[in-house]
Amino acid sequence: MKDSYERTKKILEEAGINVTVQRLQMANLLLSEPQHLTADQVFHLVNEHMPNASRATVFNNLKLFSEKGIVHLLELKSGITLYDSNLGNHHHAIDEETGEIFDIDLDSKLQEKILSELKKDFTAKTGKTLEDCNLSITLKGKKK
Ligand SMILES: [Zn+2]
Repeated sequence: MKDSYERTKKILEEAGINVTVQRLQMANLLLSEPQHLTADQVFHLVNEHMPNASRATVFNNLKLFSEKGIVHLLELKSGITLYDSNLGNHHHAIDEETGEIFDIDLDSKLQEKILSELKKDFTAKTGKTLEDCNLSITLKGKKK
């Protein structure tokens, strides 16, 4: 546990975030495993371990974490926004029926090829540049 706090503290410091006890605890909970949570779910998770942290504090910290890149924002077609604690480069498969989200890792060479094709095509069509793009796959008609 102590090790994970050291690691989390380093992540916060490197992101330029002022480390407080609450922020450290909260970031440690979020980063303990790859997860995709709504702001409410984050609040409930934090509240279980830190009953004294107010909703406003949790939401403010969450906003700060996402601005500083400690968690990634994932905006779904359904309008739901999730906070993704998996900071590694990855993509998502979203189950249309259940709303379940899976992290998808691509072979890095294949990924580079796909993303560069996508960027090229997008630029050709729009004249705009895509940055930080990643794939989101909707699962339809999957076999049980
Ligand atoms: Zn993810």
